[in-house]
Amino acid sequence: MTNKELIIKATSVVKTRRTKNGLFGDVGCALISDKNEVYVGISADVGSNTICAERNAIGSMITDGEYKIKKIVAVWKDADGSVFVIPPCGNCRQFIREVNEENLNTEIILDINKTVLLKELLPFYNWWKKQE
Ligand SMILES: [Zn+2]
Repeated sequence: MTNKELIIKATSVVKTRRTKNGLFGDVGCALISDKNEVYVGISADVGSNTICAERNAIGSMITDGEYKIKKIVAVWKDADGSVFVIPPCGNCRQFIREVNEENLNTEIILDINKTVLLKELLPFYNWWKKQE
């Protein structure tokens, strides 16, 4: 699956809904697992309790017994319908890493022709300096 196809998949699940308590689904995520399964998720923001689209998609993957991610992308759609690819927040970066250490090599899609590895978005991820 190409970056473009995964971006389209993530965009397809976006469905913004506002309630008096929160904002749902303005961000969508699609990921490809190690076994080439595609999982999707949307955001849910209620007060200080936020679940990012990435962690919703990863939750579905884990429910299916998978832990390794090949590629992941999140998109945000604004009020005018424009779609933006957005990188994972700090919490999601750490979450992806801790779901499986090999996910440090997960490709994070930033554009149709641009990806970075998760470890590039986690500076000093392997900094463990023993103190004398
Ligand atoms: Zn996040």
